[in-house]
Amino acid sequence: MGVIVARSAFALGVVSLVVLIVTLGVTAAGTLCAAASCAPSEPGAASSGESIDLGEDESDGPSEREQTGAGADGPAAGPESGELLESVTPSETGVTALAKLDPGLLSAVQQAARDAETDGISLLINSGWRSAGYQARLHDEAIAEYGSEDEASKWVDSVESSAHVTGDAVDVGPYNAAEWLSRKGARYGLCQIYANEIWHFELRPDAADSGCPERLADASSAP
Ligand SMILES: [Zn+2]
Repeated sequence: MGVIVARSAFALGVVSLVVLIVTLGVTAAGTLCAAASCAPSEPGAASSGESIDLGEDESDGPSEREQTGAGADGPAAGPESGELLESVTPSETGVTALAKLDPGLLSAVQQAARDAETDGISLLINSGWRSAGYQARLHDEAIAEYGSEDEASKWVDSVESSAHVTGDAVDVGPYNAAEWLSRKGARYGLCQIYANEIWHFELRPDAADSGCPERLADASSAP
């Protein structure tokens, strides 16, 4: 009797196991099928979404650069490259690094600097517009310093993606001025773009009403 029960239990166990395996097999096959059928559509959808954004960015970027001299990277060093050997005030518009900034960005920084002054803070510009040649040099130097293109790109954008090259970014200093602007910049449309670069600001005109966009982790996370 005991043996029969044991055998029955064993038989039931085997049947259950077989059912389980068949079920798992179907489930696994179903999952694989679903994944396989999803795979072509999901990345396709994502990349088509990205390509819309990137398309807009890319059409803006090169055309602006072409206006500053198609094919010419410009000098890689010296005042005409936008290199600043020492900080300047936002009112020193004679220097190329400031003269070639987007006028809206420059006037926003000038206004912010006047207000910072009343708070006892001197807001200076350490870097503004940069020639493509100068940006390329900075990027190459960063690769040498950080050991890889990927790591370097977290700190110094490539020529293709740098807002400095199009005149759409400033690096401010000293630290207390950068910190002041990261807190109060939105009212001027000035936003800290990267969490790891408290000194780097770009103009986001909507920020006065809706605040600055969420910061990206670093320059390599830019879309
Ligand atoms: Zn910068």
